[in-house]
Amino acid sequence: MGEFDGKSAVVTGAGSGIGAAAAKMLAARGAAIGVQDISQEKAEETCDAIVKSGGRAIPVVSDISDIEATRTALKAAEAALGGINILVNNAGITSDFCSLEDATPEMFERSIAVHVRGTVFATQAVVPGMKARGDGRIVNTSSISGTVGNPNATTYNAAKGAIAAMTKGWAKELASFGILVNAIAPGPTVTPMTTERLEPEYFTERAKDIPLRRWGTAEDMAAAIVFLAGPGAAYITGQIISPNGGLAIT
Ligand code: NAD
Repeated sequence: MGEFDGKSAVVTGAGSGIGAAAAKMLAARGAAIGVQDISQEKAEETCDAIVKSGGRAIPVVSDISDIEATRTALKAAEAALGGINILVNNAGITSDFCSLEDATPEMFERSIAVHVRGTVFATQAVVPGMKARGDGRIVNTSSISGTVGNPNATTYNAAKGAIAAMTKGWAKELASFGILVNAIAPGPTVTPMTTERLEPEYFTERAKDIPLRRWGTAEDMAAAIVFLAGPGAAYITGQIISPNGGLAIT
């Protein structure tokens, strides 16, 4: 028996990194998973891994910033899964790593489109079903960029800060419907988002600033997501849990 037996979860951006780890962990504990991603190939990879381990998963392919495409994909997933009990808004793109003066309107639009618009309209698509059942969990993905801020990350800070604020507002708005809304705010985490961009030496150097002396793993982040989606978090809403090895203690 798993703690998520009989539940269905959609995890956005579940083709890689934190989303893939969360999808696999939820599936291992009994949830049927909608593996949402912009990449069909990556979504299918995660589904295959889940199915091979004895779980249930279907791919849900859309660009999360495309409101209509995501709405349609989530409605189809809701029908296929028999309702969506848990939504993990995780899809994201890397920070632009540039000074305030170099940030462009295009960078700003893309960061807001993927992180903020994606989170808003994916949530909007699943909330009516959750309200009808009087039960739902939403776990958003902010970042320490959104809670304490990072230099040279204007558009990413803006998007992740908005996600933190929306989490708190939705928690208040949706509590009376039995829908709990929380977020994680990861610190530096080893996933393709960071390994594809940063040199190995950077990981070693940055780890020296982290009290626990290592970067987070996708599984460290997934564990917090799974906790917030599960029975142990039944009295927690509007909170932001930040697995960051002690780097940002607020
Ligand atoms: P990742 O690059 O490994 O995975 C991101 C996934 O999102 C990929 O599978 C990608 O295809 C998908 N994706 C990207 N754009 C999409 C779109 N428009 N529509 C649908 N899917 C899309 O990255 P990750 O590190 O696992 O990041 C997951 C989340 O965690 C992101 O929101 C990221 O901002 C956040 N985060 C990561 C770190 C870190 O250090 N890795 C730190 C703080 C927050």
